[in-house]
This record gives sequence, structure tokens and C-alpha cells, in this order.
Amino acid sequence: MLTASCHCGAVQIEISEKPETLTQCTCSICRRYGALWAYCTRQTARVLSAPDAETSYIWNDKVIEFFHCNTCDCLTHYESTEKSDDSRIAVNARMMSPKDIKGVKVRTFDGADTWKYID
Ligand SMILES: [Zn+2]
Repeated sequence: MLTASCHCGAVQIEISEKPETLTQCTCSICRRYGALWAYCTRQTARVLSAPDAETSYIWNDKVIEFFHCNTCDCLTHYESTEKSDDSRIAVNARMMSPKDIKGVKVRTFDGADTWKYID
């Protein structure tokens, strides 16, 4: 199991397995956040934080909700707004210890244009 944590520690996310790959996305929001995504589901990632610990940001077609810590402002994860057991939670691997994700392949996803991996 791996744990991701925001800087102040108010938000902790447990992931059941080390990710096989991590994704940096070129879309308009991910490139601004500088996020590195570990794609999980509601079954493989558990967000452990008080309900008022985070604020979310939803835009455009409202299918994804980005969460950041109210105290330290770290972007911790996003969730699909449609909730089911296998709906996506993408955990920002920047919140993980570099030791924990050492050697994990980083892929680049062209979310800005072709919606394909470009590596
Ligand atoms: Zn925090």
C-alpha cells in the first residue's frame, strides 16, 4: 500500500498497489497544475480526510472534479463526478514520496489535442 499526502497532512489518500505507470497530461488544466497522475478507482484508492478539508473545482463539461487542500493548497486528486465502484480517482503522485514511486514509468498523454499517449 502507498500513501499520498498533501503538504500539511490534512488530506491522506491510500492506494492499494504501487501504480504501474504515471501520467502527465498536456490538457489545459493538468499542465497548469503540473500534476502527475496515478490512475486508480474508488476501489483501489481511499481518500481519508475530513469532509471540509478540501475544496473542489469543476469546469467545462463537469465530468471531473479536482480537489485541493484548504490549508496548504496542494492539488491532491481528481474524481469523476459520476460515482460508482470502478469510477476513476486520479491521485496526484506529486503527493507521494519520491522513494515510493522511484522507477515507475512516466507517460505523457496528449489531453490538449489527440487524446493519445505521445511517448
Ligand atoms: Zn494540506
